[in-house]
Amino acid sequence: DMRSNYIARRITPVENFPKPGIRFRDITPALQDPRALRNSIDLFAERYDNMGLTQVVAVEARGFIFSAALADRLGIGLTLIRKAGKLPRDVFSASYMLEYGDDVLELHKDALKPRDKVIIMDDMLATGGTISAAVDLVRKTPATIMETAFVCELLYLGGRKKLDQMGINSYAICA
Ligand code: 5GP
Repeated sequence: DMRSNYIARRITPVENFPKPGIRFRDITPALQDPRALRNSIDLFAERYDNMGLTQVVAVEARGFIFSAALADRLGIGLTLIRKAGKLPRDVFSASYMLEYGDDVLELHKDALKPRDKVIIMDDMLATGGTISAAVDLVRKTPATIMETAFVCELLYLGGRKKLDQMGINSYAICA
C-alpha cells in the first residue's frame, strides 16, 4: 500500500539508542509529517470501521497518540493503560520484563464492561513484552479483545509469535 510505504519511509532508525547495540525506530518524523499522520489514522480507521469496537485501549505513552486520534475518528472511547502509579483509582497491575529489571502497567479495574469490544494499541511491536502485559490486564476485565494494533512491528523480535501463542491477532501498518 502506498500509504503504509509513505509512513514507513518516515520512521527513522537511530543506532545505539537508548543503549549501545540497539537500533531504535524513531516515529516522531511520521507524526510531524501531516500526510504520514493522516495516512496512519486513515489505515486504522478503514480496518476498524465495521468491527463494532466500543473502546480503543491505549498503551502509554506513544500508543496514546494514535489511539486518541483513531477513537475520535471512529466515534468511540479511549481507555488508558498507564505505567505504575499514574491512575488514581483501584487498578489491575501486570509486570513485564525489560532488558534490565521489570516494569508495571496498570488499568482501572472498572474501566471495561462485558459489552466492550476493544483493540489494544501501541506504536511499536518489538519483543511483545509490553503488549502481552497489556493483554493480561484487559483479560482481567470482562471485555472482548478483537486484536492488537501497531504502527510498526519488528518481525525478527518475535512479538507477533508471542501474541499468536496467547491467541491474540496482531495488525501492523508497516514492518
Ligand atoms: P516490546 O515490549 O514489544 O519489546 O517493545 C515495545 C514497546 O517498547 C512499545 O511500548 C514501544 O513504544 C517501545 N519500543 C521498543 N522499541 C522501540 C523502537 O525501536 N521504537 C519505538 N518508537 N518504540 C519502541
